[in-house]
Amino acid sequence: MSLQGNSTVRFDANLTTERPTFVTHLECSYTGERYEADTVHNLSKAGKPLLVRYDIGGVKKALTKEALAERPQDLWRYRELLPVRRVEDIVSLGEAVTPLVPLPKLAARLCAAELLVKDEGRLPTGSFKARGLVMAVSMAKSFGIKHMAMPTNGNAGAALAAYATRAGIRTTIFCPEDTPEVNVSEIELQGATVYRVNGLIDDCGKIVGEGKAKVGWFDVSTLKEPYRIEGKKTMGLELVEQLGWDVPDVIFYPTGGGTGLIGMWKAFAELEAIGLIGSKRPRMVAVQAAGCAPMVRAFETGDEHAPRWEDAHTIASGIRVPQAVGDFLILRAVRDSGGFAIAVPDDAIQAALNEAAREEGFLLCPEGAATYAAYKQALADGRVSRDERAVLFNCATGLKYPLPPVQRTLERMKPIDYSAF
Ligand SMILES: *Cc1c(COP(=O)(O)O)cnc(C)c1O
Repeated sequence: MSLQGNSTVRFDANLTTERPTFVTHLECSYTGERYEADTVHNLSKAGKPLLVRYDIGGVKKALTKEALAERPQDLWRYRELLPVRRVEDIVSLGEAVTPLVPLPKLAARLCAAELLVKDEGRLPTGSFKARGLVMAVSMAKSFGIKHMAMPTNGNAGAALAAYATRAGIRTTIFCPEDTPEVNVSEIELQGATVYRVNGLIDDCGKIVGEGKAKVGWFDVSTLKEPYRIEGKKTMGLELVEQLGWDVPDVIFYPTGGGTGLIGMWKAFAELEAIGLIGSKRPRMVAVQAAGCAPMVRAFETGDEHAPRWEDAHTIASGIRVPQAVGDFLILRAVRDSGGFAIAVPDDAIQAALNEAAREEGFLLCPEGAATYAAYKQALADGRVSRDERAVLFNCATGLKYPLPPVQRTLERMKPIDYSAF
Protein backbone atom coordinates (compact mmCIF):
# COMPACT_ATOMS: atom_id res chain seq x y z
CA MET A 1 0.00 0.00 0.00
CA SER A 2 1.30 3.42 -0.86
CA LEU A 3 0.65 6.19 1.64
CA GLN A 4 1.06 9.14 -0.71
CA GLY A 5 1.71 8.98 -4.42
CA ASN A 6 5.25 10.24 -4.22
CA SER A 7 6.45 9.20 -0.78
CA THR A 8 9.59 7.12 -0.74
CA VAL A 9 9.86 3.44 -0.03
CA ARG A 10 11.66 4.29 3.17
CA PHE A 11 8.67 6.05 4.67
CA ASP A 12 6.12 3.69 3.14
CA ALA A 13 7.76 0.76 4.80
CA ASN A 14 7.12 2.13 8.25
CA LEU A 15 3.65 3.45 7.67
CA THR A 16 2.22 0.35 6.10
CA THR A 17 2.85 -1.69 9.23
CA GLU A 18 -0.49 -1.63 11.04
CA ARG A 19 0.02 -1.24 14.76
CA PRO A 20 -2.49 -0.83 17.55
CA THR A 21 -2.92 2.70 18.92
CA PHE A 22 -3.22 3.56 22.56
CA VAL A 23 -4.91 6.93 23.12
CA THR A 24 -7.33 6.56 26.04
CA HIS A 25 -8.51 10.15 26.59
CA LEU A 26 -7.52 13.79 26.77
CA GLU A 27 -7.02 15.81 29.91
CA CYS A 28 -7.16 19.52 30.77
CA SER A 29 -3.58 20.54 31.57
CA TYR A 30 -4.83 22.89 34.28
CA THR A 31 -7.74 21.16 36.01
CA GLY A 32 -7.08 17.51 35.07
CA GLU A 33 -10.67 17.22 33.79
CA ARG A 34 -11.12 14.28 31.43
CA TYR A 35 -12.21 14.63 27.79
CA GLU A 36 -13.19 11.98 25.28
CA ALA A 37 -10.72 10.94 22.57
CA ASP A 38 -11.74 10.60 18.89
CA THR A 39 -13.73 13.81 18.78
CA VAL A 40 -12.77 17.35 17.71
CA HIS A 41 -11.32 19.52 20.50
CA ASN A 42 -9.72 22.91 20.93
CA LEU A 43 -9.05 24.27 24.45
CA SER A 44 -10.61 22.79 27.59
CA LYS A 45 -13.62 24.43 29.27
CA ALA A 46 -11.14 26.20 31.54
CA GLY A 47 -9.56 27.74 28.41
CA LYS A 48 -6.35 25.70 28.81
CA PRO A 49 -4.50 23.28 26.51
CA LEU A 50 -5.60 19.64 26.40
CA LEU A 51 -3.05 16.86 26.76
CA VAL A 52 -3.35 13.43 25.12
CA ARG A 53 -3.14 10.43 27.46
CA TYR A 54 -2.22 6.86 26.51
CA ASP A 55 -2.69 3.33 27.79
CA ILE A 56 0.81 3.18 29.20
CA GLY A 57 0.74 -0.58 29.85
CA GLY A 58 -0.16 -1.22 26.21
CA VAL A 59 2.50 1.15 24.90
CA LYS A 60 5.10 -0.45 27.15
CA LYS A 61 4.52 -3.87 25.59
CA ALA A 62 4.56 -2.60 22.00
CA LEU A 63 7.19 0.16 21.99
CA THR A 64 10.32 -1.71 23.02
CA LYS A 65 13.97 -0.97 22.20
CA GLU A 66 14.00 -4.15 20.12
CA ALA A 67 10.94 -3.11 18.11
CA LEU A 68 12.43 0.32 17.53
CA ALA A 69 15.69 -1.14 16.25
CA GLU A 70 13.77 -2.59 13.28
CA ARG A 71 12.05 0.62 12.26
CA PRO A 72 13.00 3.38 9.79
CA GLN A 73 14.58 6.59 11.08
CA ASP A 74 11.52 8.81 10.94
CA LEU A 75 9.05 10.41 13.30
CA TRP A 76 6.52 7.60 12.82
CA ARG A 77 8.81 5.09 14.52
CA TYR A 78 7.15 6.22 17.77
CA ARG A 79 3.60 5.57 16.58
CA GLU A 80 2.42 3.92 19.79
CA LEU A 81 2.99 7.24 21.58
CA LEU A 82 1.29 9.26 18.84
CA PRO A 83 -2.43 10.00 18.43
CA VAL A 84 -3.14 9.01 14.79
CA ARG A 85 -5.15 5.82 14.77
CA ARG A 86 -5.43 4.98 11.06
CA VAL A 87 -2.45 4.76 8.72
CA GLU A 88 -4.49 6.23 5.86
CA ASP A 89 -4.90 9.49 7.79
CA ILE A 90 -1.15 10.08 8.03
CA VAL A 91 -0.14 12.98 5.78
CA SER A 92 3.61 12.59 5.45
CA LEU A 93 6.25 14.60 3.61
CA GLY A 94 9.09 12.43 4.96
CA GLU A 95 9.71 13.50 8.57
CA ALA A 96 13.23 12.16 9.00
CA VAL A 97 14.92 11.86 12.41
CA THR A 98 17.10 14.99 12.70
CA PRO A 99 20.82 14.69 13.48
CA LEU A 100 22.59 15.74 16.66
CA VAL A 101 25.54 17.71 15.34
CA PRO A 102 28.51 18.41 17.64
CA LEU A 103 30.10 21.88 17.70
CA PRO A 104 33.60 20.84 18.82
CA LYS A 105 35.42 24.09 17.97
CA LEU A 106 32.97 26.28 19.82
CA ALA A 107 32.97 23.85 22.76
CA ALA A 108 36.80 23.86 22.88
CA ARG A 109 36.87 27.64 22.79
CA LEU A 110 34.54 27.71 25.81
CA CYS A 111 36.40 24.82 27.54
CA ALA A 112 33.08 22.95 27.56
CA ALA A 113 32.85 19.16 27.57
CA GLU A 114 30.19 18.65 24.93
CA LEU A 115 27.99 20.93 22.87
CA LEU A 116 25.43 19.36 20.54
CA VAL A 117 22.89 20.91 18.20
CA LYS A 118 19.70 19.10 17.28
CA ASP A 119 19.30 20.35 13.74
CA GLU A 120 15.62 20.69 13.04
CA GLY A 121 16.22 22.60 9.83
CA ARG A 122 16.31 19.23 8.02
CA LEU A 123 12.59 18.64 8.38
CA PRO A 124 9.99 19.19 5.61
CA THR A 125 9.28 22.93 5.14
CA GLY A 126 12.64 23.65 6.79
CA SER A 127 11.54 23.90 10.40
CA PHE A 128 10.42 21.81 13.37
CA LYS A 129 6.92 23.20 12.94
CA ALA A 130 6.55 20.23 10.57
CA ARG A 131 6.54 17.88 13.57
CA GLY A 132 3.55 19.56 15.16
CA LEU A 133 1.61 20.27 12.01
CA VAL A 134 1.99 16.81 10.48
CA MET A 135 0.21 15.55 13.58
CA ALA A 136 -2.45 18.29 13.73
CA VAL A 137 -3.28 17.92 10.03
CA SER A 138 -3.33 14.12 10.13
CA MET A 139 -5.78 14.31 13.04
CA ALA A 140 -7.83 16.99 11.25
CA LYS A 141 -8.02 14.69 8.24
CA SER A 142 -9.23 11.85 10.45
CA PHE A 143 -12.01 14.12 11.76
CA GLY A 144 -13.00 15.30 8.29
CA ILE A 145 -12.13 18.96 9.06
CA LYS A 146 -12.48 21.09 5.92
CA HIS A 147 -11.05 24.53 6.71
CA MET A 148 -8.15 25.29 9.08
CA ALA A 149 -6.96 28.75 10.14
CA MET A 150 -3.87 29.91 11.98
CA PRO A 151 -1.92 32.96 13.16
CA THR A 152 1.80 32.53 12.47
CA ASN A 153 5.19 34.21 12.60
CA GLY A 154 6.00 32.23 9.43
CA ASN A 155 7.25 28.68 9.94
CA ALA A 156 4.07 27.23 11.43
CA GLY A 157 2.04 28.67 8.57
CA ALA A 158 4.38 27.13 6.02
CA ALA A 159 4.10 23.70 7.63
CA LEU A 160 0.31 23.96 7.95
CA ALA A 161 -0.02 25.03 4.32
CA ALA A 162 2.10 22.14 3.07
CA TYR A 163 0.42 19.37 5.05
CA ALA A 164 -3.13 20.72 4.71
CA THR A 165 -2.74 21.02 0.95
CA ARG A 166 -1.54 17.45 0.84
CA ALA A 167 -4.56 16.40 2.86
CA GLY A 168 -6.96 18.39 0.67
CA ILE A 169 -7.90 20.77 3.50
CA ARG A 170 -8.39 24.49 2.87
CA THR A 171 -6.26 26.89 4.96
CA THR A 172 -6.39 30.59 5.79
CA ILE A 173 -3.33 32.06 7.45
CA PHE A 174 -2.63 35.43 9.13
CA CYS A 175 0.85 36.73 9.85
CA PRO A 176 2.32 39.97 11.24
CA GLU A 177 3.03 42.47 8.44
CA ASP A 178 6.81 42.25 8.89
CA THR A 179 6.96 38.44 8.62
CA PRO A 180 9.98 37.45 6.48
CA GLU A 181 9.12 37.52 2.77
CA VAL A 182 10.20 33.91 2.25
CA ASN A 183 7.65 32.67 4.79
CA VAL A 184 4.75 34.56 3.27
CA SER A 185 5.72 33.30 -0.20
CA GLU A 186 6.16 29.67 0.81
CA ILE A 187 2.79 29.68 2.59
CA GLU A 188 0.95 30.99 -0.47
CA LEU A 189 2.88 28.79 -2.90
CA GLN A 190 2.05 25.71 -0.85
CA GLY A 191 -1.64 26.27 -1.37
CA ALA A 192 -2.88 28.40 1.55
CA THR A 193 -4.37 31.89 1.41
CA VAL A 194 -2.17 34.17 3.50
CA TYR A 195 -2.73 37.72 4.76
CA ARG A 196 -0.27 40.18 6.29
CA VAL A 197 -1.93 41.86 9.28
CA ASN A 198 -0.91 45.15 10.87
CA GLY A 199 -0.27 43.65 14.30
CA LEU A 200 1.61 40.91 16.17
CA ILE A 201 0.90 37.18 16.32
CA ASP A 202 -1.62 37.47 19.16
CA ASP A 203 -3.52 40.11 17.15
CA CYS A 204 -3.63 37.61 14.28
CA GLY A 205 -4.81 34.99 16.76
CA LYS A 206 -7.83 37.12 17.65
CA ILE A 207 -8.90 37.17 13.99
CA VAL A 208 -8.69 33.38 13.86
CA GLY A 209 -10.72 33.15 17.08
CA GLU A 210 -13.45 35.31 15.56
CA GLY A 211 -13.45 33.34 12.32
CA LYS A 212 -13.88 30.17 14.36
CA ALA A 213 -16.87 31.67 16.18
CA LYS A 214 -18.47 33.23 13.09
CA VAL A 215 -17.79 30.79 10.24
CA GLY A 216 -16.49 27.65 11.94
CA TRP A 217 -12.79 27.66 10.97
CA PHE A 218 -10.81 25.04 12.83
CA ASP A 219 -8.35 26.99 15.00
CA VAL A 220 -4.87 25.44 14.85
CA SER A 221 -3.13 28.16 16.89
CA THR A 222 -0.27 27.00 19.11
CA LEU A 223 -1.67 24.77 21.90
CA LYS A 224 -5.29 25.55 20.96
CA GLU A 225 -5.67 22.08 19.51
CA PRO A 226 -4.24 19.03 21.30
CA TYR A 227 -2.06 17.36 18.68
CA ARG A 228 0.75 19.76 17.81
CA ILE A 229 2.27 19.01 21.24
CA GLU A 230 2.23 15.30 20.41
CA GLY A 231 4.17 15.93 17.21
CA LYS A 232 6.68 18.22 18.93
CA LYS A 233 7.08 15.60 21.65
CA THR A 234 8.99 13.44 19.18
CA MET A 235 11.99 15.79 19.64
CA GLY A 236 12.34 14.44 23.17
CA LEU A 237 11.80 10.83 22.10
CA GLU A 238 14.42 11.12 19.36
CA LEU A 239 16.93 12.92 21.52
CA VAL A 240 16.83 10.28 24.24
CA GLU A 241 17.09 7.43 21.75
CA GLN A 242 20.02 9.17 19.99
CA LEU A 243 21.85 9.53 23.30
CA GLY A 244 21.55 5.77 23.92
CA TRP A 245 18.44 6.05 26.15
CA ASP A 246 19.88 8.82 28.25
CA VAL A 247 18.91 12.46 28.70
CA PRO A 248 21.38 15.32 28.28
CA ASP A 249 22.23 17.43 31.34
CA VAL A 250 20.74 20.61 29.97
CA ILE A 251 18.56 21.63 27.01
CA PHE A 252 18.48 25.17 25.61
CA TYR A 253 15.18 25.70 23.83
CA PRO A 254 14.15 28.88 21.96
CA THR A 255 10.76 29.50 23.48
CA GLY A 256 7.84 31.19 21.77
CA GLY A 257 4.54 29.41 22.41
CA GLY A 258 6.55 26.68 24.13
CA THR A 259 5.05 23.69 22.31
CA GLY A 260 8.40 21.99 21.98
CA LEU A 261 9.50 22.52 25.56
CA ILE A 262 6.16 21.31 26.91
CA GLY A 263 6.15 18.42 24.43
CA MET A 264 9.65 17.24 25.34
CA TRP A 265 8.84 17.42 29.04
CA LYS A 266 5.80 15.21 28.37
CA ALA A 267 7.96 12.85 26.29
CA PHE A 268 10.40 12.32 29.17
CA ALA A 269 7.56 11.49 31.57
CA GLU A 270 6.08 8.99 29.09
CA LEU A 271 9.48 7.39 28.44
CA GLU A 272 9.95 6.92 32.17
CA ALA A 273 6.41 5.50 32.52
CA ILE A 274 7.12 2.87 29.86
CA GLY A 275 10.47 2.05 31.44
CA LEU A 276 12.80 3.31 28.70
CA ILE A 277 14.50 5.90 30.93
CA GLY A 278 14.84 6.51 34.66
CA SER A 279 13.88 9.51 36.74
CA LYS A 280 16.79 11.74 35.67
CA ARG A 281 15.67 14.79 33.70
CA PRO A 282 17.58 17.41 31.75
CA ARG A 283 17.44 20.95 33.08
CA MET A 284 15.13 22.80 30.69
CA VAL A 285 16.26 26.29 29.78
CA ALA A 286 13.70 28.55 28.08
CA VAL A 287 15.59 30.97 25.84
CA GLN A 288 13.90 34.22 24.78
CA ALA A 289 14.97 37.43 23.10
CA ALA A 290 15.51 40.47 25.33
CA GLY A 291 12.93 42.34 23.21
CA CYS A 292 10.24 39.74 23.97
CA ALA A 293 10.81 37.85 27.22
CA PRO A 294 7.51 37.24 29.03
CA MET A 295 8.63 33.82 30.36
CA VAL A 296 11.90 35.19 31.71
CA ARG A 297 10.06 37.97 33.55
CA ALA A 298 7.52 35.53 35.05
CA PHE A 299 10.27 33.05 35.95
CA GLU A 300 12.13 35.76 37.82
CA THR A 301 9.11 37.13 39.65
CA GLY A 302 7.99 33.61 40.59
CA ASP A 303 4.63 33.92 38.83
CA GLU A 304 2.60 31.01 37.49
CA HIS A 305 1.43 32.97 34.44
CA ALA A 306 3.23 35.37 32.10
CA PRO A 307 1.35 38.56 31.17
CA ARG A 308 1.60 40.02 27.65
CA TRP A 309 4.96 41.60 26.74
CA GLU A 310 4.31 45.01 25.18
CA ASP A 311 6.20 46.30 22.10
CA ALA A 312 7.71 42.90 21.37
CA HIS A 313 10.60 43.03 18.89
CA THR A 314 13.49 40.74 17.92
CA ILE A 315 15.24 39.46 14.79
CA ALA A 316 14.36 35.94 15.98
CA SER A 317 10.80 36.13 14.63
CA GLY A 318 9.91 32.54 15.65
CA ILE A 319 10.16 33.49 19.32
CA ARG A 320 8.42 36.84 19.03
CA VAL A 321 5.38 35.65 20.98
CA PRO A 322 4.16 38.28 23.48
CA GLN A 323 1.76 35.96 25.30
CA ALA A 324 1.40 32.17 25.38
CA VAL A 325 -1.64 30.11 26.46
CA GLY A 326 0.71 27.43 27.73
CA ASP A 327 2.68 29.89 29.90
CA PHE A 328 2.08 27.91 33.11
CA LEU A 329 3.14 24.65 31.44
CA ILE A 330 6.40 26.20 30.21
CA LEU A 331 7.16 27.70 33.63
CA ARG A 332 6.25 24.47 35.41
CA ALA A 333 8.57 22.36 33.24
CA VAL A 334 11.41 24.86 33.61
CA ARG A 335 11.02 25.01 37.40
CA ASP A 336 10.40 21.27 37.97
CA SER A 337 13.50 20.47 35.92
CA GLY A 338 15.74 22.79 37.93
CA GLY A 339 16.27 24.89 34.82
CA PHE A 340 15.79 28.59 34.20
CA ALA A 341 14.58 31.18 31.68
CA ILE A 342 17.09 33.50 30.09
CA ALA A 343 16.91 36.43 27.66
CA VAL A 344 19.55 37.40 25.10
CA PRO A 345 19.74 40.67 23.15
CA ASP A 346 19.56 40.74 19.35
CA ASP A 347 23.21 41.79 18.96
CA ALA A 348 24.29 38.70 20.92
CA ILE A 349 22.00 36.55 18.74
CA GLN A 350 23.55 37.97 15.56
CA ALA A 351 27.09 37.55 16.93
CA ALA A 352 26.33 33.93 17.89
CA LEU A 353 24.91 33.25 14.41
CA ASN A 354 28.03 34.71 12.76
CA GLU A 355 30.38 32.81 15.07
CA ALA A 356 28.77 29.40 14.46
CA ALA A 357 28.73 30.00 10.69
CA ARG A 358 32.35 31.20 10.48
CA GLU A 359 33.88 28.76 12.98
CA GLU A 360 31.82 25.62 12.49
CA GLY A 361 30.28 26.08 9.05
CA PHE A 362 26.88 25.73 10.71
CA LEU A 363 24.26 28.25 9.58
CA LEU A 364 21.93 28.51 12.56
CA CYS A 365 18.57 30.27 12.33
CA PRO A 366 18.35 33.34 14.61
CA GLU A 367 16.28 31.39 17.17
CA GLY A 368 18.90 28.62 17.18
CA ALA A 369 21.61 31.26 17.47
CA ALA A 370 19.76 32.63 20.51
CA THR A 371 20.27 29.28 22.25
CA TYR A 372 24.00 29.43 21.59
CA ALA A 373 24.16 33.02 22.85
CA ALA A 374 22.20 31.97 25.95
CA TYR A 375 24.49 28.98 26.53
CA LYS A 376 27.55 31.25 26.48
CA GLN A 377 25.91 33.72 28.82
CA ALA A 378 24.86 30.93 31.20
CA LEU A 379 28.40 29.48 31.23
CA ALA A 380 29.83 32.92 31.99
CA ASP A 381 27.29 33.44 34.80
CA GLY A 382 27.94 29.99 36.25
CA ARG A 383 24.33 28.86 35.76
CA VAL A 384 25.61 26.01 33.59
CA SER A 385 28.90 24.25 34.19
CA ARG A 386 31.54 23.28 31.63
CA ASP A 387 31.21 19.56 32.29
CA GLU A 388 27.49 19.45 31.54
CA ARG A 389 26.38 17.88 28.28
CA ALA A 390 24.34 20.59 26.59
CA VAL A 391 21.92 20.32 23.69
CA LEU A 392 20.89 23.40 21.71
CA PHE A 393 17.88 23.40 19.40
CA ASN A 394 18.28 24.84 15.91
CA CYS A 395 14.63 24.97 14.96
CA ALA A 396 14.77 25.98 11.32
CA THR A 397 17.22 26.15 8.47
CA GLY A 398 19.23 29.37 8.53
CA LEU A 399 18.52 29.70 4.81
CA LYS A 400 14.94 30.83 5.51
CA TYR A 401 16.09 34.16 6.92
CA PRO A 402 17.44 37.34 5.32
CA LEU A 403 21.21 36.97 4.94
CA PRO A 404 23.80 39.77 4.83
CA PRO A 405 24.64 41.09 1.35
CA VAL A 406 28.12 40.50 -0.09
CA GLN A 407 29.59 43.33 -2.20
CA ARG A 408 32.87 41.79 -3.42
CA THR A 409 33.14 41.44 -7.23
CA LEU A 410 35.80 40.32 -9.67
CA GLU A 411 36.43 41.98 -13.06
CA ARG A 412 37.47 39.05 -15.23
CA MET A 413 38.62 41.20 -18.22
CA LYS A 414 41.40 42.84 -16.19
CA PRO A 415 44.58 41.07 -15.03
CA ILE A 416 43.89 39.01 -11.92
CA ASP A 417 46.44 39.17 -9.13
CA TYR A 418 46.26 35.59 -7.82
CA SER A 419 48.67 36.31 -5.00
CA ALA A 420 46.06 38.67 -3.51
CA PHE A 421 43.43 36.01 -2.76
C1 LIG B 1 8.05 28.43 16.32
C2 LIG B 1 9.49 28.58 16.42
C3 LIG B 1 10.13 28.62 17.67
C4 LIG B 1 9.37 28.52 18.96
O1 LIG B 1 8.83 27.23 19.16
P1 LIG B 1 7.74 26.94 20.25
O2 LIG B 1 7.82 25.48 20.48
O3 LIG B 1 6.42 27.37 19.70
O4 LIG B 1 8.10 27.73 21.47
C5 LIG B 1 11.51 28.72 17.69
N1 LIG B 1 12.23 28.80 16.56
C6 LIG B 1 11.66 28.76 15.34
C7 LIG B 1 12.52 28.83 14.14
C8 LIG B 1 10.28 28.65 15.23
O5 LIG B 1 9.71 28.60 14.01
